[in-house]
Amino acid sequence: MKPPPFEYHRPDTLDEALSLLAVHGRDAKVLAGGQSLVPAMNFRLARPAVLVDLGRIGELRELTVEDAGTLRIGAMTTQRAVELSRTVADHSALLHETMPWVAHPQIRNRGTVGGSLAHADPAAELPAVMIALDAAMIITGVNGPRRVPAQDFFTGLFTTALEPGDLLTQVLIEGHQTAASETRFGAAFTEIARRHGDFALVGVAVRVGVDMVGSCSVAEIVLLSVGDGPVRAAHAAQALIGEQPDPTRLAEAAEVAAHKDIDPPSDIHASAAYRRQLARVLVRRALTTAFTRATSPGSPR
Ligand SMILES: Cc1cc2nc3c(=O)[nH]c(=O)nc-3n(C[C@H](O)[C@H](O)[C@H](O)COP(=O)(O)OP(=O)(O)OC[C@H]3O[C@@H](n4cnc5c(N)ncnc54)[C@H](O)[C@@H]3O)c2cc1C
Repeated sequence: MKPPPFEYHRPDTLDEALSLLAVHGRDAKVLAGGQSLVPAMNFRLARPAVLVDLGRIGELRELTVEDAGTLRIGAMTTQRAVELSRTVADHSALLHETMPWVAHPQIRNRGTVGGSLAHADPAAELPAVMIALDAAMIITGVNGPRRVPAQDFFTGLFTTALEPGDLLTQVLIEGHQTAASETRFGAAFTEIARRHGDFALVGVAVRVGVDMVGSCSVAEIVLLSVGDGPVRAAHAAQALIGEQPDPTRLAEAAEVAAHKDIDPPSDIHASAAYRRQLARVLVRRALTTAFTRATSPGSPR
């Protein structure tokens, strides 16, 4: 299948891209890596009259660390560049660990971080990871940039806080572990897919913190492929706060996540009951790994 005809623009600057989006409004769509948009156009599921290709805007591909240890990832940074980045590995072990689970290497070569987040597929890994990391999305529109917490960015099935004319320009991830911090952090990502690289049947990103007496002081548990978007297991997280993270507690929290926090769908890929079972097993595994990392000196943070 070929896409319906469209007008194609390839601006050199962010201002130019924003002006084009302002002129064409809802008729325009942004082209990033094209790994979701182009198939959708070929299947005639998306019919934008105008495409604004962000590929030439160098500032959207910058990946830097600020003085305070905050990782700043330009929206057009490819998923492969993040996967291979030493800077990302040093500053966000969770993001580094997750990248190989996103699709296949060929797709990660072109697919971008911003494209994955803006597309907001409920089975995508990066939205769940960004919520677990408490990341901030920088959205830029004609009136300038605004900062939206990841938790508020994903608003439903394939929908986000992006308005027509907006671009997702950057993602900010704060460094949680500092030398002075009394909390020791650990994180983990895991998922089950039919074949490695396929969209997950269920996945989970976990970030935990342990205080000086070994009690859980921070717990973020975010699941994917169990709802319309990334789903925070808030009851399970609450059940861990102030507790010693022993195997019994972790198993109880996983049970809460599977039975109280999610209402997974049945579809051609898996039944709701199977997804609940996967969620229970994966949350327990991810929590076990994350707490082990939090309490083991030298583990990735
Ligand atoms: C076979 C296959 C398997 C895949 N498996 C997985 C998987 O396991 N996990 C996973 O997460 N993904 C998977 N993907 C999707 C892949 O990760 C895509 O790269 C990603 O979803 C979209 O990124 P992109 O850069 O290609 O965006 P595009 O396809 O170019 O754009 C996607 C959407 O986001 C919008 N958009 C893009 N960038 C911006 C921006 N900066 N600001 C505002 N709007 C923007 C576009 O207008 C479009 O609506 C798979 C894709 C394929 C083809």
